[in-house]
Amino acid sequence: MVVTYHRPTRAIIHRKALRENIRNEVERLPKGVELFAVVKADGYGHGAVATAQTALTAGATGFCVATLDEAIELREAGITEPILVLSVVFPSYLSLVVDYDLSITVATKDWLLEAQEVLKDLTEMTEPIKIHIKADTGMGRIGFLTPKEVQEAAAIVEASPNMVWEGLFTHFATADEADFTYWQTQASRFQAVLSTLDHLPRYVHSSNSATALWHDKEMPGNMIRYGVGMYGLNPSGHELPEPYNLQPAMELVSELIQVKKLAADEGVGYGKTYDTPKEEWIGTVPIGYADGWVRKMQGFSLLVDGEFCEIIGRVCMDQLMIRLPKEVKVGTKVTLIGKNKGQEITMQEVAEHLGTIHYEICCILSERVPRIYQ
Ligand code: PLP
Repeated sequence: MVVTYHRPTRAIIHRKALRENIRNEVERLPKGVELFAVVKADGYGHGAVATAQTALTAGATGFCVATLDEAIELREAGITEPILVLSVVFPSYLSLVVDYDLSITVATKDWLLEAQEVLKDLTEMTEPIKIHIKADTGMGRIGFLTPKEVQEAAAIVEASPNMVWEGLFTHFATADEADFTYWQTQASRFQAVLSTLDHLPRYVHSSNSATALWHDKEMPGNMIRYGVGMYGLNPSGHELPEPYNLQPAMELVSELIQVKKLAADEGVGYGKTYDTPKEEWIGTVPIGYADGWVRKMQGFSLLVDGEFCEIIGRVCMDQLMIRLPKEVKVGTKVTLIGKNKGQEITMQEVAEHLGTIHYEICCILSERVPRIYQ
């Protein structure tokens, strides 16, 4: 998809907010605990490379991504710090892991055995591949289930000349909830894993943003995987108070491209789902579901000159219509997410309108919308 610069719709990414969020978090970390910035899914839609470069200037010492291609993108952009791929990389791609000097996640014994065979044939290897063993303490996604399985995996890695045991980690399923019971169950399972091992690798990590924000006194490990908090979004939505002010890094803005007065009883949009009850000023905004502003956003209100203006009629692929309180000039700024003359629309509000979480909103904003860094 082509990035559409010749249109006023933009996602503005505030580097200062990214930096402040990271700095605030780094300041709270005990000495010796590192922050790896999670920049998977194109930096949660904020742009992986720009976000990673900004994170580095604020104290991040490494990065986490979800896929091999995301890791390669960072390396090709010149990032030299450690990069951990959090999801499973098939052994058949191990030559790329070697070429790009990446750290990878191991979640099963079968993977290790297959990888040993593949690595025997990689004659160009000069360094062993860096392995982070994943313990599944209750997420039910990827990882070894018992301390014994983790011990066995560590033994295999340490006996392999082509592998080095660099990390051990787990992931919490409910760290963003007010009820800490299940978090504690997972934490004690992870402690059980740690206590059965006679030594530990370079990195032990268990914290996503929510664990770092609300379980900081008890979180096990010497590295945190800081994602959504860096983008200035409260992982719990509203449920838990932020220990410091998280500053949203993304604004979504556009401009009115046409303003017209419709007579009473005129239809607006596909399917004519809206009829003007009286004479009304209608504004057209150049953003639609192909930009990730989905059809279900009908009925939500956008900001124009500090006033909330409802999206009326169906959201089209590339445009939508709003009801204006009065005649407004073409070219007037429209805020879809962010501040506008004393009022604000948060990503959380967009998520609530759609019955989802803010993580999804920033991730689905399509490539067509240019990311402009300030
Ligand atoms: N660690 C793992 C394994 C993840 O899957 C994620 C994100 O989903 C994170 C860390 C970062 O989580 P958050 O964005 O909530 O900080």
